[in-house]
Amino acid sequence: MTETTGSSGAVRFNDETWETLSAATRANLCFQCGTCTAACPLADNTPMRVRMLVRRAQFGETDPLIWKCMTCAECNASCPRGVDIVGLVRYLRQGKWRTREVPKGLPTLLWGIFSDGNTFHLPPKDRAAWMQDVKVPGRGSTLLYVGCTASYDPRAQRTARSVAKLLNLAGVEYQVMGTDEICCGEAARSVGNEGLYDDLQERNSAAFRQRGIERVITISPHSFDALKVGQAKYGGPPVVHYTQALEELCDSGKIVSKVEKRVVTYHDPCYLGRHQGVFESPRRLLELTGLKLIEMRNNRAQSLCCGGGGGRMWMETDPSERPGPRRVAEAAGTGAELLATACPYCISVFESERGSEPIPVTDVAELLASGARG
Ligand code: SF4
Ligand code: SF4
Repeated sequence: MTETTGSSGAVRFNDETWETLSAATRANLCFQCGTCTAACPLADNTPMRVRMLVRRAQFGETDPLIWKCMTCAECNASCPRGVDIVGLVRYLRQGKWRTREVPKGLPTLLWGIFSDGNTFHLPPKDRAAWMQDVKVPGRGSTLLYVGCTASYDPRAQRTARSVAKLLNLAGVEYQVMGTDEICCGEAARSVGNEGLYDDLQERNSAAFRQRGIERVITISPHSFDALKVGQAKYGGPPVVHYTQALEELCDSGKIVSKVEKRVVTYHDPCYLGRHQGVFESPRRLLELTGLKLIEMRNNRAQSLCCGGGGGRMWMETDPSERPGPRRVAEAAGTGAELLATACPYCISVFESERGSEPIPVTDVAELLASGARG
């Protein structure tokens, strides 16, 4: 992005940048209808207005509130002109790194990804700690890509173990990369470091090739989205989310799971649902276990963001601006006994922000594993 400082002191990007940006995101087609603002969960409790963000971009300016965006894609789904607002946000964030106008926490995040290969800035030697008592076959052309959060975060590690146990039960031959696994780059892309994201995709692609990987199963929807897009560019293998892989195994009779009959509601993670269109696989898994599924009013493409995407996990958010409590309240309001989801970020946010709401938060894989037999 090429920028100039005008007489007013405002930093503007030039016409060439605008041409590139328009071609990539269709931002030039915006006619300021405001539908995106009406759809954006930030419009209720923050000063950010996505319509204004696009308008300012049309004038060559970057809205300073750009960092509040969670890249949830509600705006993309609602825009009648097909503007890729999430793409625009990522692009504009790239420019902010040049002037170092970035929230604190993000340089450390990027340094952790660059130097340690993970978003936690923890030693790569600890990356396989999630496995504990799980024995992985370590052969075959399927890779279980665990991702940073499920590798290092104790709560998310439970999801990784559940998925691995279910694959074992079904007799799937698969590998994990253990301490050799590196970040998928989704967080880097979200906060505006497309170069680091690209580099990680290339390195992951080479590692997959070296191991003879023909299919990747991810734990996190963020890895799913990042690897699916990135591996398509580098000729890597197809990528699926674990809910899709487990649905296949249930359909072929390799996994049977029956759990205590309870009422559950399901939260669609933005990167699994709106970004990648996977709405039904997690629901089918829940219903196959015998759980009764009831829907929240905002479900599937209208799901409300938990607030953890777009790098927001690594930025301070004022409690009054957090969308998580509203979503947990919506789940509790359905009368469901459990709130299930399929993303480690969503679980982490809901667990820490559910306050006095009594509804327990769980992962689809954990539920399935709790009642599974081969
Ligand atoms: S919905 Fe699309 S066309 Fe309407 S203001 Fe937003 S970006 Fe512009
Ligand atoms: S991606 Fe989500 S948070 Fe960001 S502007 Fe669009 S609707 Fe708002």
